[in-house]
Amino acid sequence: MERSVNQRGFSIVSHNLSFYNGFREPKVILLVSHLGRSKRERGETMRRYGAPIYGKQFVGNTDKKEVHDLDNEKTGKNECQIDEIIRAQHARTFNPDTLDQAHREGYDNCAYCIGGSKR
Ligand SMILES: [Zn+2]
Repeated sequence: MERSVNQRGFSIVSHNLSFYNGFREPKVILLVSHLGRSKRERGETMRRYGAPIYGKQFVGNTDKKEVHDLDNEKTGKNECQIDEIIRAQHARTFNPDTLDQAHREGYDNCAYCIGGSKR
């Protein structure tokens, strides 16, 4: 266990060398606590890099035909609910990854992260 805090409020809680795949592939796991500040306050985005989003900025909810901007995601109760959309398998991305493309495909703006709904 190693613990250090720098002046930006980062706290390195632990680092831990683990081995996967029968000890062939070493991975370093770094757990960082940011002392209660939200991702947005830290200037981080809320993009998801795994399936089905693959790091795209705009995510469509195929159920409500609404588009969300993950770079401005709102995580309050009943706001964007991106993780719920993904869990329900209602998430899709656009090609190209633009708000214009989502509009061309008939998606309306989420009121929380984009605003200016046309409904
Ligand atoms: Zn949204």
